[in-house]
Amino acid sequence: MHGEVIRTERLSRSLIRVVLGGAGLASFAGSAFTDAYVNCLFLPDGSPLDVPWDEETARATAAEHRPRPRRLSVRRWDASSGELTLDIVSHGDVGHCGRWAGRARSGDLLQLRGPAGGYVPHPDADEYLFVGDESALPAIAASAEAVAAGKRVRIVALVDAPGDEIAVQSPGELEVVWIHRSVDSAVTALADAVAASGPPSGSLSAFVHGEAEESSAVVRVLARGGWGDPEMLSSSPYWRRGMGDEAWRGVKGDWVRAMRDETQALFAASR
Ligand SMILES: Cc1cc2nc3c(=O)[nH]c(=O)nc-3n(C[C@H](O)[C@H](O)[C@H](O)COP(=O)(O)OP(=O)(O)OC[C@H]3O[C@@H](n4cnc5c(N)ncnc54)[C@H](O)[C@@H]3O)c2cc1C
Repeated sequence: MHGEVIRTERLSRSLIRVVLGGAGLASFAGSAFTDAYVNCLFLPDGSPLDVPWDEETARATAAEHRPRPRRLSVRRWDASSGELTLDIVSHGDVGHCGRWAGRARSGDLLQLRGPAGGYVPHPDADEYLFVGDESALPAIAASAEAVAAGKRVRIVALVDAPGDEIAVQSPGELEVVWIHRSVDSAVTALADAVAASGPPSGSLSAFVHGEAEESSAVVRVLARGGWGDPEMLSSSPYWRRGMGDEAWRGVKGDWVRAMRDETQALFAASR
């Protein structure tokens, strides 16, 4: 499957919206998950492959020219227009995905697989807490839009500076707290802000994603405080500072398992 860039838009200093469409997305199926993601395949500079390529041709290509998979959240899928919206962090002149987004122009093609996903705001929860950085904002924004009217929705988001903030909407009673690395560069800045926002007053559906160290610190705050039910907590580290995605995927499984065990123990101790 592949999409053709229909238009791009700069949402903030660091977030670039890329809208894909075209006949190559004809078989794309929507997802009920608000954290649905696609696995996009970026070609390194100089790769002889052209979109769309087949798996066999890609496997036969020299390793340095093979496509690099990167997961990106489905910000929106419009089945009627066949348009798929991705919001991508442009984080300097590094990374196949971030650089592609910075250079994307109408007519560019992007091969992808999916979608998959796992979270939808629990309809029975009394309130919602969505926490993350720039990379998690697309899923957070989609989740905030999907809650029932009148429910409390708290977003605590970490970005580099005020120019990285985006507009977020919700039918719920929305409170948004922005934290800036330019003011507080500690790895616990996001976790400290979540702790300061106070525990929930009822059952909580929580979504915590983003950089590995930063989001793990947030999960520890929730688990130590016994905030909500671990079954209603969605958390996974989307990326790791100082590691490219290939290196991160090599160690991510162990990280996730260790974090899950620690989280369960902390929740149990808080009871
Ligand atoms: C399920 C899921 C959904 C995701 N959804 C989105 C999304 O909607 N939008 C999005 O932009 N990202 C999203 N991500 C994160 C994205 O896949 C990673 O950030 C990925 O590493 C970016 O690839 P890259 O080629 O740009 O950089 P890489 O080649 O992976 O890394 C190059 C360097 O950049 C650093 N880096 C990577 N990501 C960031 C970042 N966000 N900010 C600062 N430095 C970074 C790395 O630590 C490394 O040092 C998602 C990840 C997952 C697992």
